[in-house]
Amino acid sequence: MTAAELPSAARRLLRLRAAGIFLMLFLLVLSGVLGYRFSERAGLRDLRANTSHQLDLMTAAIDREVTRHAHIPGVVALNSEVLDLLRHPIDAKGEGARQLAVNRHLERLNAHIDGLAVFVLDMQGIVVASSDWIYSDNVLGADFSYRPFFRAAAAGTPYRQYGVDAVRNEPGYFFAHPIRDERQDWRVIGVAVVKSGIASLERRWLAHEVAEGPALIADGNGVVLLASPPEWKYATLKPLSGEVIADIRRQQFDGRAPGAFSLDVDVEAAADGTLVSFPSAAPLPGETPRGRRDYLALSRNLPESAWRLLVFANLRPVRAQALTHGALAAAAVACLLLGMLYLRQRRRVLHSRLENQALLKQANQALERSVAERTADLSDAVRRLEAEVGERKRAEQTLRAAQDELVQAAKLAVLGQLATGITHELNQPLGAVRTLSGNAIEFMRRGNLETAADNLRIVGQLAEQMGSIITPLKTFARKSPAVSSAVDVAHAVASALFLFDQRLQRSGVSVDNRCRPGELIAWCDQNRLQQVLVNLIGNAIDAMTVQPVRRLTIAAERVGSSGAGGRIALAVADTGGGFSPDVIGRLFEPFFTTKPAGEGLGLGLVISRDIVRDFGGDLTAESAPGGGARFVIHLPTQQGASAS
Ligand code: ADP
Repeated sequence: MTAAELPSAARRLLRLRAAGIFLMLFLLVLSGVLGYRFSERAGLRDLRANTSHQLDLMTAAIDREVTRHAHIPGVVALNSEVLDLLRHPIDAKGEGARQLAVNRHLERLNAHIDGLAVFVLDMQGIVVASSDWIYSDNVLGADFSYRPFFRAAAAGTPYRQYGVDAVRNEPGYFFAHPIRDERQDWRVIGVAVVKSGIASLERRWLAHEVAEGPALIADGNGVVLLASPPEWKYATLKPLSGEVIADIRRQQFDGRAPGAFSLDVDVEAAADGTLVSFPSAAPLPGETPRGRRDYLALSRNLPESAWRLLVFANLRPVRAQALTHGALAAAAVACLLLGMLYLRQRRRVLHSRLENQALLKQANQALERSVAERTADLSDAVRRLEAEVGERKRAEQTLRAAQDELVQAAKLAVLGQLATGITHELNQPLGAVRTLSGNAIEFMRRGNLETAADNLRIVGQLAEQMGSIITPLKTFARKSPAVSSAVDVAHAVASALFLFDQRLQRSGVSVDNRCRPGELIAWCDQNRLQQVLVNLIGNAIDAMTVQPVRRLTIAAERVGSSGAGGRIALAVADTGGGFSPDVIGRLFEPFFTTKPAGEGLGLGLVISRDIVRDFGGDLTAESAPGGGARFVIHLPTQQGASAS
């Protein structure tokens, strides 16, 4: 998906995010820059204060160093030998007694103060006495008339000046003092001069640069007299015109060194502190500066002179610290922003969690509602089912009662069928009983009691025989509820066959009963099993009526394991016409019969199957292998039934 395809809400969100990121970056940069600026300003303030304090200390130290001999010319001016020398004409060779005395005095004085030289000038600016008189390169006779210090002192003003003397070519600090003669109305008759060395100051100066940064002393003309780095010595603070430089060279430095190059520092601004930039290596004349370094320049006037002391404090530490502070400020702002983002994200997560919880609650409520509805539905369904079950139970009870009635009706129907046979069966013994009992009466009347007794015994036997015919009928006709017990299958078969005894004989049916008493015991109701067998045997006899071969085969066998779940298959087979394909499918339909009206109800097999199923077994029908029909009663054994 391209940016153009994004929905407008998503585009707006994207723009907002970009603006947010930009704003955060801007804040970061701003905080960094502000942090840097504040820190730099504070650093500069501290640096200025520290450097200023340092300057004060340095100024005091330098002033002490430089002015330690400032009073010496004044002392020389008071010396009577000096005055005496100047009052009288001076020996040009300096060998006069007065001059010698003054030379010696000055020599001692110079040795005492450890100065460079002490000398006296006459009003022409010529050295008339000097502490270095014993050396061959002494300044005696040298002309200092062009030196400003001489001119000022000769005019009556004490003067101090840095310079290089022409004789020794040695830099030093000249203090000049007018020598006045009280006898000549305090007129100036000469000038006393002391020249101080500043070597120790120079040494300390060099050490200063190593520790603190460059520093320098410049005179009133802006010429650097002392500097660290030493290369700056005799440079000028400001570019000076050629004439001025020539003047300075002539008057102060005897035509040498100063003014080769300018440092270009604004001394006035440096009084309050100003920023200057120098090449990292000290600039040398004619060299192209590489890599510059920034400094804070601060200046002080040395007391009672036009000299200035300048100190250059390195800005690098201040800048480095400012950089650190800027970075810290940016980092702090970044932390703050991240914290805000984190809080925002957290609030979002909490919000969405709360939303989810609300949704979950809603879903739960909906679920609970639908569960309650379903439960109510189910309760209704359960109630309906219970009602249905009750209904079914009642129907089943009614059905069972009807079934019992049917069973009974079927039994009675069978009995009805058997009635003719039974009557015939009973007629014979009854006739015999009648005859024998009549005979017995006659024999008793004749007094032949023994024969009468024999007759009566036979009557008893016949009565017993008739009873044995009637008892099974009574048992069969009894209306009893089905109660399962251990039933000898052979016994039930024999009882059923007994009922058909007459009919079988009449129909010419041979019976092949393969059941042996005590061999197979089923778990069922004997009376009902007998009824099923009666049904099947009756049907078989009916089916074989028109067959040339009429044989009824009854056999039982154990099927499956002998233990739990074992079954007995009791088969009743005939040599009748068997089943047509149409008939076999409808055998167990209620009221299905192929018999003429009044002979068959079509309920025998239905009731029989129900009875067997009640035992936990089944009734099946198939065509017998040699033609005819074969019904199999599947019965549970005692173990199988008790196990189930
Ligand atoms: P009914 O005997 O009253 O007809 P049944 O339910 O006992 O009722 O039998 C239904 C039908 O099954 C019989 O009409 C007959 O057509 C058929 N049938 C039953 N037993 C046999 C058999 N052994 N051989 C041939 N057909 C049979």
